[in-house]
Amino acid sequence: MKYSEYQPRPDLLKNKVILITGAGDGIGRTAALSYALHGATVVLHGRTINKLEVIYDEIEGLGAPQPAILPLQLSSASTRDYELLADTLTSQFGRLDGILHNAGILGERLPLSDYPTDIWDEVMAVNLRAPFAMTQALLPLLEKSEAASVIFASSGVGREARALWGAYSVSKFGVEAMCQIFAKENTYPQLRFNCINPGATRTAMRAKAFPNEDPLTLPTSEMLMPAYLYLMGEDSKHLNGESINAQD
Ligand code: NAP
Repeated sequence: MKYSEYQPRPDLLKNKVILITGAGDGIGRTAALSYALHGATVVLHGRTINKLEVIYDEIEGLGAPQPAILPLQLSSASTRDYELLADTLTSQFGRLDGILHNAGILGERLPLSDYPTDIWDEVMAVNLRAPFAMTQALLPLLEKSEAASVIFASSGVGREARALWGAYSVSKFGVEAMCQIFAKENTYPQLRFNCINPGATRTAMRAKAFPNEDPLTLPTSEMLMPAYLYLMGEDSKHLNGESINAQD
Protein backbone atom coordinates (compact mmCIF):
# COMPACT_ATOMS: atom_id res chain seq x y z
CA MET A 1 0.00 0.00 0.00
CA LYS A 2 1.02 3.63 -0.42
CA TYR A 3 1.50 4.95 3.12
CA SER A 4 1.08 8.54 1.94
CA GLU A 5 -2.46 7.69 0.75
CA TYR A 6 -3.58 6.03 3.98
CA GLN A 7 -6.89 7.44 5.23
CA PRO A 8 -7.14 7.19 9.02
CA ARG A 9 -10.45 7.00 10.88
CA PRO A 10 -11.05 10.25 12.79
CA ASP A 11 -10.90 8.36 16.13
CA LEU A 12 -7.92 6.13 15.18
CA LEU A 13 -6.00 6.90 18.38
CA LYS A 14 -8.93 7.39 20.78
CA ASN A 15 -8.07 6.54 24.42
CA LYS A 16 -4.39 6.06 23.58
CA VAL A 17 -1.57 7.66 25.56
CA ILE A 18 1.31 8.53 23.22
CA LEU A 19 4.67 10.09 24.00
CA ILE A 20 6.28 12.19 21.25
CA THR A 21 9.90 13.29 21.64
CA GLY A 22 10.97 16.57 20.10
CA ALA A 23 7.33 17.66 19.99
CA GLY A 24 8.07 21.39 20.11
CA ASP A 25 9.12 21.81 16.48
CA GLY A 26 9.30 20.29 13.01
CA ILE A 27 7.84 16.86 12.31
CA GLY A 28 7.36 16.08 16.03
CA ARG A 29 5.17 19.13 16.52
CA THR A 30 2.98 18.20 13.54
CA ALA A 31 2.76 14.56 14.68
CA ALA A 32 1.73 15.62 18.20
CA LEU A 33 -1.09 17.77 16.80
CA SER A 34 -2.17 15.07 14.38
CA TYR A 35 -2.16 12.30 17.01
CA ALA A 36 -4.13 14.54 19.41
CA LEU A 37 -6.67 15.39 16.70
CA HIS A 38 -7.13 11.64 16.14
CA GLY A 39 -8.07 11.17 19.78
CA ALA A 40 -4.79 10.51 21.60
CA THR A 41 -3.70 11.97 24.90
CA VAL A 42 -0.26 13.17 23.88
CA VAL A 43 2.73 13.56 26.17
CA LEU A 44 4.78 16.38 24.67
CA HIS A 45 8.48 15.88 25.23
CA GLY A 46 11.09 18.50 24.36
CA ARG A 47 13.92 20.58 25.73
CA THR A 48 12.45 24.07 25.13
CA ILE A 49 9.52 24.53 27.51
CA ASN A 50 7.99 27.59 25.84
CA LYS A 51 7.69 25.69 22.52
CA LEU A 52 5.92 22.86 24.35
CA GLU A 53 3.56 25.33 26.04
CA VAL A 54 2.57 26.82 22.67
CA ILE A 55 1.64 23.43 21.25
CA TYR A 56 -0.07 22.46 24.53
CA ASP A 57 -2.33 25.52 24.20
CA GLU A 58 -2.94 24.79 20.52
CA ILE A 59 -4.06 21.23 21.28
CA GLU A 60 -6.30 22.38 24.13
CA GLY A 61 -7.76 25.11 21.90
CA LEU A 62 -8.67 22.51 19.27
CA GLY A 63 -10.70 20.58 21.84
CA ALA A 64 -8.46 17.49 21.66
CA PRO A 65 -7.72 15.47 24.84
CA GLN A 66 -5.68 17.42 27.39
CA PRO A 67 -1.97 16.83 26.72
CA ALA A 68 0.92 16.64 29.20
CA ILE A 69 4.33 18.33 29.03
CA LEU A 70 7.57 16.52 29.73
CA PRO A 71 10.78 18.57 29.47
CA LEU A 72 14.07 16.65 29.31
CA GLN A 73 17.43 17.57 27.76
CA LEU A 74 18.33 14.37 25.91
CA SER A 75 22.01 15.16 25.39
CA SER A 76 22.69 14.85 29.13
CA ALA A 77 19.77 12.72 30.43
CA SER A 78 20.82 10.07 32.96
CA THR A 79 19.40 6.64 33.76
CA ARG A 80 17.85 8.27 36.84
CA ASP A 81 16.08 10.84 34.62
CA TYR A 82 14.52 8.00 32.60
CA GLU A 83 13.45 6.22 35.80
CA LEU A 84 11.79 9.44 36.99
CA LEU A 85 10.09 9.79 33.60
CA ALA A 86 8.74 6.25 33.90
CA ASP A 87 7.52 6.98 37.47
CA THR A 88 5.75 10.16 36.31
CA LEU A 89 3.98 8.39 33.43
CA THR A 90 3.09 5.44 35.69
CA SER A 91 1.43 7.65 38.28
CA GLN A 92 -0.29 9.85 35.69
CA PHE A 93 -1.47 7.24 33.16
CA GLY A 94 -0.56 3.74 34.36
CA ARG A 95 0.33 2.63 30.82
CA LEU A 96 1.73 3.83 27.52
CA ASP A 97 0.27 2.98 24.09
CA GLY A 98 2.95 4.49 21.90
CA ILE A 99 6.22 6.38 21.60
CA LEU A 100 7.31 8.41 18.59
CA HIS A 101 11.08 8.75 19.00
CA ASN A 102 11.36 11.80 16.80
CA ALA A 103 13.86 14.15 18.54
CA GLY A 104 17.13 14.35 16.70
CA ILE A 105 20.05 16.59 15.81
CA LEU A 106 22.08 16.84 12.64
CA GLY A 107 25.54 17.53 14.09
CA GLU A 108 28.07 18.80 11.56
CA ARG A 109 28.33 18.02 7.84
CA LEU A 110 32.06 17.26 7.75
CA PRO A 111 34.34 14.43 6.62
CA LEU A 112 35.11 11.91 9.35
CA SER A 113 38.76 13.01 9.18
CA ASP A 114 37.72 16.38 10.63
CA TYR A 115 34.67 15.36 12.66
CA PRO A 116 34.83 16.82 16.20
CA THR A 117 34.52 14.10 18.85
CA ASP A 118 32.39 16.23 21.17
CA ILE A 119 29.79 16.75 18.40
CA TRP A 120 29.99 13.00 17.63
CA ASP A 121 29.18 12.25 21.29
CA GLU A 122 26.27 14.71 21.36
CA VAL A 123 24.70 13.32 18.18
CA MET A 124 25.01 9.77 19.51
CA ALA A 125 23.53 10.81 22.87
CA VAL A 126 20.45 12.48 21.37
CA ASN A 127 19.83 10.29 18.31
CA LEU A 128 20.77 6.83 19.63
CA ARG A 129 21.40 6.65 23.38
CA ALA A 130 18.23 8.58 24.29
CA PRO A 131 15.74 6.40 22.35
CA PHE A 132 17.48 3.30 23.68
CA ALA A 133 17.46 4.37 27.34
CA MET A 134 13.94 5.80 27.13
CA THR A 135 12.48 2.69 25.50
CA GLN A 136 14.23 0.46 28.05
CA ALA A 137 12.84 2.49 30.97
CA LEU A 138 9.31 2.60 29.49
CA LEU A 139 9.02 -1.08 28.46
CA PRO A 140 7.05 -2.04 31.61
CA LEU A 141 4.49 0.69 30.80
CA LEU A 142 4.30 -0.30 27.11
CA GLU A 143 3.74 -3.92 28.17
CA LYS A 144 0.63 -2.78 30.09
CA SER A 145 -0.99 -1.50 26.87
CA GLU A 146 -3.53 -3.58 24.93
CA ALA A 147 -1.81 -2.51 21.70
CA ALA A 148 1.35 -0.39 21.67
CA SER A 149 3.49 0.96 18.82
CA VAL A 150 7.03 2.27 19.21
CA ILE A 151 8.31 4.28 16.23
CA PHE A 152 11.90 5.40 15.69
CA ALA A 153 12.72 8.25 13.28
CA SER A 154 15.31 7.05 10.81
CA SER A 155 16.73 8.55 7.63
CA GLY A 156 17.87 7.60 4.14
CA VAL A 157 21.46 7.89 5.41
CA GLY A 158 20.59 5.36 8.13
CA ARG A 159 20.27 2.72 5.41
CA GLU A 160 22.91 3.83 2.94
CA ALA A 161 25.83 5.94 4.18
CA ARG A 162 26.79 9.08 2.34
CA ALA A 163 29.93 11.23 2.55
CA LEU A 164 29.77 14.18 4.99
CA TRP A 165 26.85 12.77 7.01
CA GLY A 166 29.20 11.62 9.81
CA ALA A 167 27.73 10.93 13.23
CA TYR A 168 24.16 11.54 12.02
CA SER A 169 24.35 8.71 9.49
CA VAL A 170 26.05 6.36 11.96
CA SER A 171 23.44 7.17 14.64
CA LYS A 172 20.57 6.40 12.24
CA PHE A 173 22.17 3.07 11.19
CA GLY A 174 22.26 2.39 14.94
CA VAL A 175 18.60 3.32 15.29
CA GLU A 176 17.65 0.88 12.52
CA ALA A 177 19.61 -1.92 14.23
CA MET A 178 18.23 -1.10 17.68
CA CYS A 179 14.68 -1.13 16.34
CA GLN A 180 15.20 -4.59 14.80
CA ILE A 181 16.71 -5.91 18.04
CA PHE A 182 13.86 -4.58 20.20
CA ALA A 183 11.43 -6.12 17.68
CA LYS A 184 13.16 -9.51 17.69
CA GLU A 185 13.58 -9.68 21.47
CA ASN A 186 10.00 -8.63 22.18
CA THR A 187 7.78 -11.34 23.66
CA TYR A 188 4.58 -9.26 23.91
CA PRO A 189 2.41 -9.80 20.80
CA GLN A 190 0.53 -6.55 21.47
CA LEU A 191 3.77 -4.49 21.33
CA ARG A 192 5.76 -3.63 18.20
CA PHE A 193 8.75 -1.57 17.08
CA ASN A 194 9.27 0.00 13.64
CA CYS A 195 11.30 2.71 11.93
CA ILE A 196 10.04 5.54 9.76
CA ASN A 197 12.11 7.56 7.32
CA PRO A 198 10.31 10.87 6.79
CA GLY A 199 12.31 11.68 3.67
CA ALA A 200 13.26 15.26 2.74
CA THR A 201 10.87 17.51 4.71
CA ARG A 202 10.52 21.27 5.15
CA THR A 203 11.96 21.75 8.68
CA ALA A 204 14.79 23.60 10.44
CA MET A 205 16.98 20.47 10.36
CA ARG A 206 16.64 20.10 6.59
CA ALA A 207 17.41 23.81 6.11
CA LYS A 208 20.57 23.41 8.19
CA ALA A 209 21.66 20.40 6.11
CA PHE A 210 20.86 22.07 2.75
CA PRO A 211 21.14 25.85 3.24
CA ASN A 212 20.97 26.58 -0.51
CA GLU A 213 17.77 24.63 -1.11
CA ASP A 214 14.43 26.42 -1.55
CA PRO A 215 12.27 25.04 1.31
CA LEU A 216 9.13 25.66 -0.73
CA THR A 217 10.17 22.81 -3.07
CA LEU A 218 9.95 20.32 -0.18
CA PRO A 219 7.00 18.40 1.26
CA THR A 220 5.70 19.75 4.57
CA SER A 221 5.48 17.74 7.80
CA GLU A 222 1.69 17.65 7.36
CA MET A 223 2.13 15.61 4.16
CA LEU A 224 3.86 12.86 6.17
CA MET A 225 1.03 12.39 8.62
CA PRO A 226 -0.85 9.58 6.86
CA ALA A 227 2.25 7.35 7.31
CA TYR A 228 2.88 8.54 10.89
CA LEU A 229 -0.74 7.81 11.79
CA TYR A 230 -0.68 4.45 10.01
CA LEU A 231 2.36 3.22 11.92
CA MET A 232 1.02 4.42 15.29
CA GLY A 233 -2.49 3.04 14.87
CA GLU A 234 -3.76 -0.51 14.84
CA ASP A 235 -4.16 -0.76 11.04
CA SER A 236 -0.41 -1.53 11.01
CA LYS A 237 -0.49 -4.05 13.88
CA HIS A 238 1.05 -6.74 11.65
CA LEU A 239 4.24 -4.67 11.23
CA ASN A 240 7.12 -5.35 13.64
CA GLY A 241 10.82 -4.74 12.96
CA GLU A 242 10.07 -2.98 9.65
CA SER A 243 11.41 0.28 8.27
CA ILE A 244 9.04 2.32 6.11
CA ASN A 245 9.32 5.50 4.03
CA ALA A 246 6.69 8.09 4.93
CA GLN A 247 6.62 9.48 1.40
CA ASP A 248 6.09 6.12 -0.35
P1 NAP B 1 13.83 19.64 13.82
O1 NAP B 1 12.87 20.53 13.12
O2 NAP B 1 15.24 20.08 14.01
O3 NAP B 1 13.20 19.22 15.24
C1 NAP B 1 13.89 18.37 16.10
C2 NAP B 1 13.21 18.32 17.43
O4 NAP B 1 14.07 17.56 18.33
C3 NAP B 1 13.02 19.70 18.05
O5 NAP B 1 11.76 19.76 18.69
C4 NAP B 1 14.14 19.77 19.07
O6 NAP B 1 13.88 20.59 20.18
C5 NAP B 1 14.26 18.31 19.51
N1 NAP B 1 15.58 18.08 20.11
C6 NAP B 1 16.77 18.22 19.50
N2 NAP B 1 17.77 17.99 20.37
C7 NAP B 1 17.19 17.70 21.56
C8 NAP B 1 17.70 17.40 22.85
N3 NAP B 1 19.01 17.38 23.09
N4 NAP B 1 16.82 17.13 23.84
C9 NAP B 1 15.50 17.19 23.61
N5 NAP B 1 14.95 17.49 22.42
C10 NAP B 1 15.79 17.74 21.40
O7 NAP B 1 13.94 18.22 13.07
P2 NAP B 1 12.94 17.48 12.05
O8 NAP B 1 13.39 17.78 10.68
O9 NAP B 1 11.54 17.71 12.45
O10 NAP B 1 13.36 15.95 12.31
C11 NAP B 1 12.60 15.06 13.12
C12 NAP B 1 13.21 13.68 12.97
O11 NAP B 1 13.16 13.26 11.60
C13 NAP B 1 14.69 13.61 13.37
O12 NAP B 1 14.96 12.43 14.06
C14 NAP B 1 15.42 13.64 12.04
O13 NAP B 1 16.67 13.00 12.12
C15 NAP B 1 14.45 12.88 11.15
N6 NAP B 1 14.58 13.21 9.72
C16 NAP B 1 14.25 14.44 9.24
C17 NAP B 1 14.36 14.70 7.88
C18 NAP B 1 14.01 16.05 7.28
O14 NAP B 1 14.16 16.24 6.06
N7 NAP B 1 13.51 17.01 8.04
C19 NAP B 1 14.82 13.70 6.99
C20 NAP B 1 15.16 12.45 7.52
C21 NAP B 1 15.02 12.22 8.88
P3 NAP B 1 14.05 22.21 20.09
O15 NAP B 1 12.95 22.66 19.17
O16 NAP B 1 13.87 22.65 21.48
O17 NAP B 1 15.42 22.45 19.51
